[in-house]
Amino acid sequence: MLRPAGIDDLCAILAAGGALRLRGGGSKDGIGAETPGATVVDMRGFAGIVDYDPPELVLTVGAATPLAAVQALVAGQGQMLAFDPFDHAAILGGAPGQATIGGVIAAGIAGPARLSRGAARDHLLGFTAVSGRGERFVAGAKVVKNVTGYDLPKLVTGSWGRLVALTELTLKVLPAPRAQQTWVTTGLDPSAAVAAMARALGAPAEVTAAAHLPRWNGAPATAIRLDGFPGSIAARAAMLGPVVAGLTPLDDTAAAALWLAVRTAAPLPAERPLWRIIVPASRAPGVVAAIPNADWLFDWAGGLVWLASDSDAAQVRQAAAAAGGHAMLVRASAAMRAAVPALHPQPAPLAQLESRVRRAFDPDGVFEIGRF
Ligand SMILES: Cc1cc2nc3c(=O)[nH]c(=O)nc-3n(C[C@H](O)[C@H](O)[C@H](O)COP(=O)(O)OP(=O)(O)OC[C@H]3O[C@@H](n4cnc5c(N)ncnc54)[C@H](O)[C@@H]3O)c2cc1C
Repeated sequence: MLRPAGIDDLCAILAAGGALRLRGGGSKDGIGAETPGATVVDMRGFAGIVDYDPPELVLTVGAATPLAAVQALVAGQGQMLAFDPFDHAAILGGAPGQATIGGVIAAGIAGPARLSRGAARDHLLGFTAVSGRGERFVAGAKVVKNVTGYDLPKLVTGSWGRLVALTELTLKVLPAPRAQQTWVTTGLDPSAAVAAMARALGAPAEVTAAAHLPRWNGAPATAIRLDGFPGSIAARAAMLGPVVAGLTPLDDTAAAALWLAVRTAAPLPAERPLWRIIVPASRAPGVVAAIPNADWLFDWAGGLVWLASDSDAAQVRQAAAAAGGHAMLVRASAAMRAAVPALHPQPAPLAQLESRVRRAFDPDGVFEIGRF
């Protein structure tokens, strides 16, 4: 294991080449194949708050700053990371609190509020990184109104340590809502639930999050959340009644438990392989119908299906692809992870394009370690 103390160290390590696996806190080590031949580059030296300007809604941090520390810092100013990132310890096991903000960005992690507030990539304004060539560079900016040019923050978000080693990130933060209120209607089948969530999103109520759990306290539950000032929530809630029947408000404790369960797929059995399937929301019921004996739940109004299943990987991927989506293997045994790529295989033209982009950042393939 290598532990660069600073950016010059990191440049020297990457320039020297080899097969290198970047690691922040290691909370997502369980995703992708094991890579016994690769040397781990422990990035934890790049931690700390660099600059936080609450009135400007901009935060610059070392990439290895713990996610929890970043969330606590901005919460102290009544602000939030609006893309709703979360710690994968709840999904993959391991000690909570290890997730770093760099890991969250590298993996493109976003929770239920992604439905309304955008993905991780939409909140990364700029970064400093070292390429696979061992060259330090800066991309984006520290202001919300950005310069033109290639939008590299969008590219590195979700790149899983395959393009660059991130050392510093500048993030957009937003004011946290004063209040949240969740309503649940029960007893809907998957199609009726997706239709109800679509109607709620279509109403001018500004829904923040919408999810469906087929078994929650013993019955199917479809949940809809509004955020904002209490008066505004009350006014917008009045617009939901006419489009979704039977909505009952949840108290704050029950609502927090429900959204935590959705965010971390907690109700699904931990011993079965876990898939994260992205499809057009209207196709989600068809996907779960095509995979027998699966446990599942819908987030993002159906656009994200968390699915636990012992079915063949090819069957799961085929069901996702037939619905116009893709399936990522998030949790599985080491043997399954060695045999099944974590990321959904891409069509040949896209794979070629992607490989050219990777070559540009990493010509010698130091990050090509067979994890994905
Ligand atoms: C070098 C590199 C290699 C990669 N290789 C692969 C690979 O082999 N396979 C792979 O699957 N991915 C790969 N990716 C990741 C891929 O480019 C995307 O980042 C990823 O699929 C998007 O998922 P996300 O988690 O960022 O999701 P999100 O951005 O949160 O969204 C998930 C999906 O939902 C779709 N979506 C979002 N909102 C809506 C909406 N309102 N309606 C309909 N659809 C919506 C988005 O288009 C997106 O595909 C690679 C990325 C990089 C940089």
